[in-house]
Amino acid sequence: MKTLLDLVLPARCGGCARPGTGWCGECAAELARGPVRVRPRTDPGVPCWAVGPYAGPAGRAVVAAKEHGRRDLAGPLGLAMATVLAGLRALDRPLVLVPAPTRAVAARRRGGDPVARAAGVAAGWLIDCRTVTLLRMGRGVRDSVGLRTHERAHNLRGRIMVIRHGADMAGIPANAEVVLVDDVLTTGATAAESVRVLSRIGARPRAVLVTCAA
Ligand SMILES: [Zn+2]
Repeated sequence: MKTLLDLVLPARCGGCARPGTGWCGECAAELARGPVRVRPRTDPGVPCWAVGPYAGPAGRAVVAAKEHGRRDLAGPLGLAMATVLAGLRALDRPLVLVPAPTRAVAARRRGGDPVARAAGVAAGWLIDCRTVTLLRMGRGVRDSVGLRTHERAHNLRGRIMVIRHGADMAGIPANAEVVLVDDVLTTGATAAESVRVLSRIGARPRAVLVTCAA
């Protein structure tokens, strides 16, 4: 019941825990400062951007959305993503957002995938942009918490799968720009493996955009 009430009327800001609002003006201003270029240890081979640092409202909002069921935060996080994407994209080409895959168990526990939800909000703000869920985690992927960089890469190698949407590549136009989106970038293992898999099917992302980076 408390969770339900929180969804209707979040009691605290998801970015700074200030009472009385779900997302405060200061955190909104912080997210609007512009993206941060990130260089993860496992290099995905395409430019990586974060809406903000992990130690800040972006990071705290990701944790709140992921661990505390704050679905309402998809609104401000999606808007912040859209702002960054508007600056990164080529205006004469369609834009396709591909959410990074999540472990099914984790997504179910959270009652949905916060990354896909925020990406959907972002796509709604942009012209000629949509979200295509194209990647999923295969079986046997462990929770990456506590794993080192090389262990994370090994954990994912060959375990990110393409969800087939028929023969036409999910209807992604040939001239579309693809951007891989995720909530957190730490070692870069998920991003690198996702970019590798997407490249193999002819949908190489031009960038990776995450909400926050450690
Ligand atoms: Zn705040």
